[in-house]
Amino acid sequence: MVGRAELIRRHPQLAHVDWDAVAARFPVRVPRGWGDRPELLKQALPDERELQGDPGDVPDPVGEQARSPLPWVVRKHEDRVLLLLTKRCHLYCRYCFRADHRPGEGEDPTPAEWDAMLTYARGSGAREVILSGGDPLAIRDDRLFNAIDGVRTGASPVIRIHTRAPITSPARVTPALVQGLAARAPTWVIVHCNHAAELTPAVRGALARLVDAGIPVLNQSVLLAGVNDDADALVSLCETLVTLRVFPYYLHHPDAVPGNAHFRVPVEQGLSIYAELTRRLSGLALPRYVVDPPDGSGKRDVRGDL
Ligand code: SF4
Repeated sequence: MVGRAELIRRHPQLAHVDWDAVAARFPVRVPRGWGDRPELLKQALPDERELQGDPGDVPDPVGEQARSPLPWVVRKHEDRVLLLLTKRCHLYCRYCFRADHRPGEGEDPTPAEWDAMLTYARGSGAREVILSGGDPLAIRDDRLFNAIDGVRTGASPVIRIHTRAPITSPARVTPALVQGLAARAPTWVIVHCNHAAELTPAVRGALARLVDAGIPVLNQSVLLAGVNDDADALVSLCETLVTLRVFPYYLHHPDAVPGNAHFRVPVEQGLSIYAELTRRLSGLALPRYVVDPPDGSGKRDVRGDL
């Protein structure tokens, strides 16, 4: 992890940021070795604009609160259930739609909450169980495997792990982790990469270890102002992912999280970029451009009215 003093030394503009106030909104955590290009660092470095309100802010931007039947569980669809295994991540993305989860305050389920959420998932009848967070790879392997084994039933055969760890902390993809996941097929890994510059040799190695073990790997990216809000950047990302045998699954329209207005892209611009992607990318390389609306109804394709 890169410490505060080192980050300020490397990025002198950070000396003028009210770090404590920004970190009180959402902690700052930048893994060593992650991202030295400006468009990458914007995703991770604290910014005073996070403290400013915006008329477009939505307190619960993807409508999870009303769809949470018990702590650490989100149920938007009958055939899927999502479990938040932790609030911790290897890197705290400044645009995150779960920034209000505030890691540091009860950042992991209590033993009773853990048992309750696994019991709920096991009895849910949901065909797919999504392990998310925070980052589910921020917890130990034995706990992760306990979650997979604890929720899988004949009615819920498919496990999805939504993680940014292979991108932000590729060393986390150890042989033991890969072996444990491969032994628990069908387990799908959905990573989160926003820019081709994130696909360093170490990241490519981590993705290859997963794919070589027969684990399906898909990517979700978020359309972010000043990071990847141009067609060239996204074409490069999607084409590179396909060469790495990773399917570019979703391009998310940014959620209106309080504090992330400087990352938002107008929908007209997003649709224009996506139209260019449809012209330039093959079906294999083209993600779906989706929005997760605040009414909690779940993802749908972006339209002119969002
Ligand atoms: S890794 Fe995912 S959950 Fe964690 S801060 Fe980034 S976007 Fe949010």
